[in-house]
Amino acid sequence: MTTTHVLGYPRIGKQRQLKFALEAYWRGELSQAELFALGKQLREENWQLQQKAGQAWVTVGDFAWYDQVLTTSMMLGNLPRRHQSAELSLDSMFAIARGQQGSGCCNAASDMSKWFNTNYHYIVPEFSEQTQFSLQWRQLLEEVDEALALGHKVKPVILGPVSYLYLGKNELGAAKDFDRLSLLKQLLPVYAEIYQALAERGIEWVQVDEPILGLEIDIAWKGALLEAYKQPLSDCKILLTSYFSDVLDNTSVIKALAVDGLHLDLSAAPEQLDAVLSWLPEHWVLSAGVINGRNVWRANLPALIEAYCALKAQLGERLWLASSCSLLHCPLDLAAESNLGDAEYRLAFAEQKLTELQLLAEAINGDKQALRVARQYSAALSRVARPLTQEEQAQAASIPRQRSLSFAERQAIQQQQLALPLLPTTTIGSFPQTQEIRRQRREYKAGLLSEADYKAALAEHIKQAIECQERLGLDVLVHGEAERNDMVEYFAEQLDGFIVSRFGWVQSYGSRCVKPAIIVDDISRNQALTLEWAEYAQSLSTKPVKGMLTGPVTILSWSFPREDISRQQIAEQIALALRDEVNDLQQAGIQIIQIDEPAIREGMPLKRSQWQAYLDWAVAAFKLAASSAEPSTQIHTHMCYSEFNEILPAVAALDADVLTIETSRSAMSLLQAFEEFEYPNQIGPGVYDIHSPNIPSVDEIKALITKAAQLIPLARLWVNPDCGLKTRDWQQTEAALTNMVLASQQLRTSL
Ligand code: GLN
Ligand code: ZN
Repeated sequence: MTTTHVLGYPRIGKQRQLKFALEAYWRGELSQAELFALGKQLREENWQLQQKAGQAWVTVGDFAWYDQVLTTSMMLGNLPRRHQSAELSLDSMFAIARGQQGSGCCNAASDMSKWFNTNYHYIVPEFSEQTQFSLQWRQLLEEVDEALALGHKVKPVILGPVSYLYLGKNELGAAKDFDRLSLLKQLLPVYAEIYQALAERGIEWVQVDEPILGLEIDIAWKGALLEAYKQPLSDCKILLTSYFSDVLDNTSVIKALAVDGLHLDLSAAPEQLDAVLSWLPEHWVLSAGVINGRNVWRANLPALIEAYCALKAQLGERLWLASSCSLLHCPLDLAAESNLGDAEYRLAFAEQKLTELQLLAEAINGDKQALRVARQYSAALSRVARPLTQEEQAQAASIPRQRSLSFAERQAIQQQQLALPLLPTTTIGSFPQTQEIRRQRREYKAGLLSEADYKAALAEHIKQAIECQERLGLDVLVHGEAERNDMVEYFAEQLDGFIVSRFGWVQSYGSRCVKPAIIVDDISRNQALTLEWAEYAQSLSTKPVKGMLTGPVTILSWSFPREDISRQQIAEQIALALRDEVNDLQQAGIQIIQIDEPAIREGMPLKRSQWQAYLDWAVAAFKLAASSAEPSTQIHTHMCYSEFNEILPAVAALDADVLTIETSRSAMSLLQAFEEFEYPNQIGPGVYDIHSPNIPSVDEIKALITKAAQLIPLARLWVNPDCGLKTRDWQQTEAALTNMVLASQQLRTSL
């Protein structure tokens, strides 16, 4: 029999039970015992599914109350110093993740960071020269015992010591010259202790994740890997796992490690297989990650069967079949859906992926019935994309991406039309998404509120947002995005080529989940997307109201993409649709159009060597979307992050008339880079942090604007918050914007 396994399974539950239980617990409405019981139940279900699908083991250690990296920190006894006074407990874990307030103390949460190039966020471990490790939080061992007691064969998963250090950062107050790699020596004995405890439980294999094997790492980190795996630390066998990328940059290191097997992500990087086979040590197992854990498409089983039958003949029992990465990154169960049309026959969520692995293994083992089922199962995939006709190709290629006039020329025309004051004030788009709006949308989607009533309600919310902005004296208004629940789903619902699932949730962080839209076909726009509300909002004010679009790269990044055409091609299709929307908006008299691209940076490939190619097509897609704008139409874009260093040339190449960015938390120091780069167009550096409920004072905002004005000429400076206001309430919003407008107005006369 061929060994099959998954690197991890989603823990949130088919109905997002863990999410709701966590939130109830945090509100004090659920007891710890009830929460624990639910976790136990979810783990049991997941293990049972894996067992039923004939997996060699159930994977244990993928369950986390908040985040698996945070669980690892707890296990290693590594808490940020400011949290160390508390006993290790579920609550102290949540305090690290969410911050702790009250009883005279306020301990800030640890940072959150994106897990490689996924949309999952982990809690960043913190290190200093005082960090000490010891085996503390015994969740992993307890869950192993729990699974063993249920009669399962168990393969624990653990984040490897080198990636654990790599993914962390220096704690505030750590010595300047502190190098967290120096901690490896004292970290390894704790890992040895954990492996030993597992060995004592009869565990044969441990899956040790070292995802940094897929990165371009420097010599010091390579040395750390050699150090960490130079000898076995216990009797357990180690399956070294990498994912999301190929390991070829680290071949010479990997070959030298004292491990017993290697897992490759052959879905993200199939081309690495031959190279690895050429040097794979004879006694190692190869875990072939062929079932894509990051997307929702059925596997092409016949093709896999053919390819891996040959490899099976070569490797025999040393060939394992696996998910490419943890299934954490895909939704749980397709069977819960009912309205996906014939796309259903092309999709597979986590539970279906288990079946795929089973079929694949059976067919490779020569089971004729499995082969027949596999062929049938993947049959609907053979529908290939309709290639663009020559005419369409020529048409797409003939669209000039460059705007017809230079920025300076456009600026003059726009200024004449818009007649904005110095330091114009605006916001990023969304206004508070109140309980009321959410309830109305829920009722509308459930058929409890008629379309007419829902629209009337939205119109009322938009009207209130416009009136509020008028009252506050903002210069450029927004309609407030009441009709959107997130930045992509609204567009996916209107565009052809997308489907939106009902329960396709994927954990983003903690209790938060996202439901990415699924791109199933060529994308086209058969109706205006945003025009109606934009026109309505503009009709309520004589001030300019921004049209508000999500950019092509962001729509793509936050969806599940097709795999039969390239990401670049998909982005281009979305861009063409947005291009028509831009034109409709300007024809209707919308003078300013914002095309948000908060995801450009996170879409960057893991390897630096691939960045430029990505940025080239990402920029081209944005420009295509904006390419229908007349010189008099002012194009804004928004990006809410603060690391621009490497991508400034690309950001400048977007040639947006106005760029709004997140800067308040870095106290404008980010603008230095823009100044040095001589960023040519207008900029709206965020003057307050919308993530915090704090109300910034007029003076604080003035100080920030003054600082910004030292770096960017006044004539090119805008005043706005860091990001959209949808997570704030109305009171906070009004108070903060009042001060923002006052600050700008006072400076207009004094600067
Ligand atoms: N226009 C969006 C909003 O204001 C932008 C959100 C974002 O950048 N993530 O909500
Ligand atoms: Zn933002």
